Amino acid sequence: MQTTDPTTPSAGTDWHARPAADVLQALHTSQQGLSPDEAARRLDQHGRNELPGTRPRHPLARFLAQFHNALIYFLLAAALLALWLGHGVDAAVIVGVVTINAIVGFVQEGKAEQALNALRAMLAPNARVVRDGDRQTVAVAELVPGDVVLLEAGDRVPADVRLLRSRGVLVDEALLTGESLAAEKREDPSDPKAALGDRHGMAWSGTLMVAGQATGVVVATGSQTQIGRISTLVGSVEALTTPLLRQINHFGRWFSVLALAGALLVLAFAVWVRNDPWTESLMMVVALAVAAIPEGLPAVITITLALGVRRMAQRHAIVRRLPAVETLGATSVICSDKTGTLTRNEMTARRAVTADGMAFAEGTGYAPEGRLVDAQQQPLSADSPARRRLLLIATLCNDAHLKAEGEHWQVDGDPMEGALLALGARGGCHASELTQRHPRLDEIPFDAEHRFMATLHDAGDDGVCVLVKGAPERVLSMCSHQLEADGSAPLHEAHWLAAIDEAASAGERVLGFAWRQLPTRPETFDFDTVTDLHFVGLVGFIDPPRDEAIRAVADCHDAGIQVKMITGDHAQTAAAIASQLGIAAQPVVMTGADLDPLDDAGLREAAWRADVFARTSPEHKLRVVRALQAEGAIVAMTGDGVNDAPSLKQADVGIAMGRKGTEAAKEAAEVVLTDDNFASIVAAVHEGRTVYDNIRKVIAWTLPTNGGETLGIIVAMVLGLTLPMSAVQILWINMVLAVTLGLALAFEPPEPGVMARPPRAPAAPLLSRFMIWRVGLVSVAFTIGMLGIFAWAHDVRGHDVAMARTMVVNAVCVMCVFYLFSVRYLNVPSMTWRGVLGTPAVLWAVALVAAAQLMFTYAPWMHLWFDTRPTGWLDNLITLVPGPALLLLLELEKAILRRLGWFHELQPPRAARQTA
Ligand code: ATP
Repeated sequence: MQTTDPTTPSAGTDWHARPAADVLQALHTSQQGLSPDEAARRLDQHGRNELPGTRPRHPLARFLAQFHNALIYFLLAAALLALWLGHGVDAAVIVGVVTINAIVGFVQEGKAEQALNALRAMLAPNARVVRDGDRQTVAVAELVPGDVVLLEAGDRVPADVRLLRSRGVLVDEALLTGESLAAEKREDPSDPKAALGDRHGMAWSGTLMVAGQATGVVVATGSQTQIGRISTLVGSVEALTTPLLRQINHFGRWFSVLALAGALLVLAFAVWVRNDPWTESLMMVVALAVAAIPEGLPAVITITLALGVRRMAQRHAIVRRLPAVETLGATSVICSDKTGTLTRNEMTARRAVTADGMAFAEGTGYAPEGRLVDAQQQPLSADSPARRRLLLIATLCNDAHLKAEGEHWQVDGDPMEGALLALGARGGCHASELTQRHPRLDEIPFDAEHRFMATLHDAGDDGVCVLVKGAPERVLSMCSHQLEADGSAPLHEAHWLAAIDEAASAGERVLGFAWRQLPTRPETFDFDTVTDLHFVGLVGFIDPPRDEAIRAVADCHDAGIQVKMITGDHAQTAAAIASQLGIAAQPVVMTGADLDPLDDAGLREAAWRADVFARTSPEHKLRVVRALQAEGAIVAMTGDGVNDAPSLKQADVGIAMGRKGTEAAKEAAEVVLTDDNFASIVAAVHEGRTVYDNIRKVIAWTLPTNGGETLGIIVAMVLGLTLPMSAVQILWINMVLAVTLGLALAFEPPEPGVMARPPRAPAAPLLSRFMIWRVGLVSVAFTIGMLGIFAWAHDVRGHDVAMARTMVVNAVCVMCVFYLFSVRYLNVPSMTWRGVLGTPAVLWAVALVAAAQLMFTYAPWMHLWFDTRPTGWLDNLITLVPGPALLLLLELEKAILRRLGWFHELQPPRAARQTA
C-alpha cells in the first residue's frame, strides 16, 4: 500500500482544518488502526518517534572537568611551586597523582552516568494504540503516522495527533504556546489559518492531557512534530549532584582556603621563628597542604550515591532525581495510596446488593465463569430484574476489556472494572453482546474529583438510558428513586447506607450503581443530565492487602517511620484494610469532609494524629503533606493521577506508580516504583539509610587520615623535627587509600539494625559531635603512630631519613586499614566475625593496598620517584604494630562512651522487633 508521506508540507500542515474522516483516509488508516506489518513498514520509513536528545558531553570535556575543582587547583599550584623550587620529581609526582585522580573520577562518573541513563531507559513511556482493531501498549518511540492512539488524563501526548473523538479534553500546552491555561479540545475541524494554540482538533506531542479521554490519529512523529521543529534539544542531562555533595564541595573549598591560610602561617613560623631556609620551608608547606586536602573524597561520595541508586533500582524503586537518595534515608512519614500499593489490586466482585436481596459470586480472578449464589451458597432461586439491571450497568458503564492469555484471564484497564465484567459474565451479561445491543453514545469519564462515571446508551424504542457507577454516597446523592422488584419507589437512603457500612466494615470496596431512562438523546451529556437517577444497587469487592506490605509496615514502625494511608476509598473500607495491614489496631480515620473545615493549626494536629485519610481528593493530599511538613516531618508521598502532581512535588520524596501511574505523576515524582508496591518504598528507605551511613563512614574514615597527616607535620615542624613524610609520599597515601579503602566503604552493606533506629533528624549536621570527637582522637592517634615509628626507626634503629619515612608511610597505611574495620560499624562493635571477615569489597581493597605498598617499598622505580627504601622483616613487623593498637583503642573508646551515654548515636539499636 502506498501511503501519503505526512512529513511533506502540503500534507502535514492542515490536519487541523480537515474533518477527522478525511485525515484517516489521507493517512491510509482507519478507526481500527494499522496492521502490525504496516506499522513496522512505516517505522522503517519515518524512523523512531524520538527527538534528537541532548548531545552527551565530549569525553575530553568530561575529563577536563575533573580538574575543575578547588582542591585540584591548589595541588597544581603546589606542583608549579615545587618545579620552581627545583623539585622536578616532586612536581611530576603531584601532577601524576592528580591525573590518576582525574582518571578515576572520569571512569567512575562515566559509570554513574551510564547507570542513570539506564534508569531513564527503564522509564521510557508507553502509548496505548489500536492496531488491527486490538488495543495494545507500545513504546512511544514506535508510534508511526497513521497509528490510532487512546489518550486519557495524565498522559503526555506521544506524537502530533489529530483527534477523532474527544470527551472533556483539556490539554496543557504551555510547553509549546506558553499559555498557562489548559486548552479545550474537540474533534471538529478548525479554521485553516488558526494559530497553533487555536487548533482545537489537534493534540501536540509533549503536551499534557489534564482531563478527559480522547482517541486520535498520529499525523507526525519525532522531529517532524511541532515540538521537534521548535527545539531539537529537549530533556537535559541531570547533573550528578545532591545537596549533600554540594555541602561537601562547599566544605572542600573552605577547607582549601583554611589549609592555605594555615600553611602560610606555618611558613611564616618556619622562616621567621625557626630561621629555616625559605625554599625548604616552602616544600614543607606544600607537604602540609597536600596532607590536609582529601582529594579523593568527592569522587568516592559520587560513586556511593550511584551505587545506592543502582541498588534501589534492583529493588524496584527508580530514582529520577539523585537528592532523593539522601532524603529517603531521612523519611519520617510515608503517606501511601491504598489500592494497588498496600493492596494487591486483584479485585474480585464478591457481593451484589439490590433492593430485593443479595447475591454472591463464586470463584475469583477475571475468568468469566462461575455463577451467582445466595448467602447459603445455593443457586439463586428467582430471577431479579433489579439484579439484571445492576449487572447490565456494571458491564456497559465500563472501559475495561477481558482477554484470555492461555489459561489466564487478564484485564486491559482498571482491575475493578475487569472484576465487574467477570461478575456480569457470571450473571449471564456478556459485554460483546450488550455493547452491540446498546451502543454507547456518550460518556462522562471517571475522575477522582467527582468519583463517578456515567455513560449514555441507545435503548432502542425506549429512547436512551443513562448508566452511572461510582462511590456509593456520591451516586446516592444523585438519586431520587430506587429500583425494586416491582418497579421504582422513592429512595430509602438509610437502607443503602446500612448496606454500604456492612460491606465496608468487612474491608470491601463498595461501588454504587444507578440508572435513568430518557425518551430522547439530550443535546449535551453533562452533570445536569445525571440527576434524578434511580438507585439500582451496590457491588462489594475484595482486594486483599499485600503480604509484603504487612511486613513493610511493621518494618516502618521499627524504624520509627509513621505510615499513613491516603485513599479515595470509603472510610470504613480504608479503616478495615489499615487494621489488617497493622498500620494501627484501631486506626484513627479522617475523611476529606472532616479536613475541609479545619484551619492550619487544626489540620496539623489532625494530620499528625490520623492513620487513615479516606474519601480524599488530590487537594487534600497537598494539604496533608504541607501540614505534616510544618510539623517537621520528612514526608514521602505516593501518587498516580494527574492531580497528584502538586502533592508529589510538595512532598520531600514524591513517589509515582510506574505501572498504573500517569506520565504527569511520574514526571512530578522523585522516585518511580516499577512494581507499584509499598514494600519497595520501604526497601528504598532502607537503601537510603545505608547510602547516608556509608557516606558518613567515608568521611569519618577520610578526615582523620588527612587530619593525622597534617597534625604529624605541624607537630614535627613546631618541635623542630625532621618531617616524618615528604609531600609526594603523603599524596601517594591519599590517592592509593582513597581509591581502595575509601571506595570499599561505598560498597559496604547495611549495618545490622539499620531499620531499627529512628530516622535521622533532617537538620542533623553531617559531622555530628561524635564524629568531630572521633576525627580529633584518631588524628592524635595517627600523629603518635607516625612520629613514634619515625623516632624508633631513625633514633633507635639508626636508619636514614628515607628508610624511616618508608616505614612511616607503611605504618600509616596499616593504621588506615585497621581504622577502616573500626569505621565499618559506627553503631555496633567491630570485633565480630562478621566485622573481621569484612565484605569482599573490603578484602579486595586491603589486598590492593598491600600490593601497592609492597611495590612502593621494593620496586626500584618507586625508590626513584618517592625516595623510598626496601625495609627489612623486623622493621616490617614494627610497622604493623600501630594498626591493631588503634583498633583496640577505638573499640575501648566505643565501649566506654556507650557506658557514659554521652553520644546518642552510639546507643545500640532497639532490641529485636516486637512484631505487631
Ligand atoms: P487509592 O486512592 O488508595 O488508590 P481509590 O482507588 O479508592 O483509592 P480513587 O481512584 O480516587 O481512589 O477512587 C475514589 C472512589 O471513586 C473509589 O473508592 C470508588 O468508589 C470510585 N471509583 C474508582 N474508580 C472508579 C471507576 N472506574 N468508575 C466509577 N467509580 C470509581
